Amino acid sequence: MPDPIVIATWPFGKVAAEAALKSLNRGEPALDAALVGAQAVENDYSVRTSVGFGSLPDRLGRLTLDACVMDGKTLSCGAVAAVEHIKHPAALARRVMEKTPHVFLVGEAAKWFALQQGFPLEVPYTTEAIKEWLEKHPDFRKKGEVKPPAPCDNPSDINVDEHNHDTVTVLTQDKKGNLGGVCTTSGLAYKLPGRVGDSPIIGAGLYVDDLAGAAGATGVGEEIIRICGSSFVVEQMRGGKSPQEACELACKRVSAAAARRGVHPAAVAFLALDPKGNTGAACTTRTNFKYAVGRGEKVEMLQAKEIGPDA
Ligand code: ASP
Repeated sequence: MPDPIVIATWPFGKVAAEAALKSLNRGEPALDAALVGAQAVENDYSVRTSVGFGSLPDRLGRLTLDACVMDGKTLSCGAVAAVEHIKHPAALARRVMEKTPHVFLVGEAAKWFALQQGFPLEVPYTTEAIKEWLEKHPDFRKKGEVKPPAPCDNPSDINVDEHNHDTVTVLTQDKKGNLGGVCTTSGLAYKLPGRVGDSPIIGAGLYVDDLAGAAGATGVGEEIIRICGSSFVVEQMRGGKSPQEACELACKRVSAAAARRGVHPAAVAFLALDPKGNTGAACTTRTNFKYAVGRGEKVEMLQAKEIGPDA
């Protein structure tokens, strides 16, 4: 069996990878370790534009969280979306997987389920996040109307970078060789209320199958949903592609989909892990996607290959 391994999105993926690697090295199952990693980022209020409480809210100033989990051995999965006041949406998604016959709960009903499961209701806002939201919405304060910030008007124009991206995706392989994955986010900053991206959608933001591999995504969720991104990557690996080739093909497919609408490809990135412990990652241009890889005792940061529209 390969050594345990973890890969996780963006620079804060280091926090996730370090926590998940400790768990894997203790012999814990892949999904448990991925959850430990994701939760470490949900808990980190210094990740201000990002995952969990303290992140940037929607256009109305409300912070809603999305998450999903998947176990590669059984294909069991769970998801929640548009959940307010619950600090650990990934743990809640796991409860959906384990305690209900369903896969996906949303909004108030997901919150109701969280309360039933003993999750506390908590205040998700920080002074910094509220201040930034107010600064970005002077018209809202003056005229009492919601004026959307420009970056949200066309998905292909949304420039996802370290200042407004919001997802940690953690993929793990445990000592038994099983795969697990968790994806957790507050979604795109200043999204329309009710908007849900790829992150909590099984097959879009995450897909994990011990027989083929695990994949996750980050970036403009609309473009990832359009091509069933993570499922696409896993199916490429099932067909014999390496994780790197599979991620590059997904980026090309995003570009091809954008070309059919006559727009530039939006910023998206994919990362993947195959059953042999090989990893890969790729992103569209302008995405500047960094990710963490942890193996043994060591976590390193890598820069993903950019795949332009003409690749
Ligand atoms: N994929 C997330 C979403 O669309 C955002 C991100 O990863 O930056 O909600």
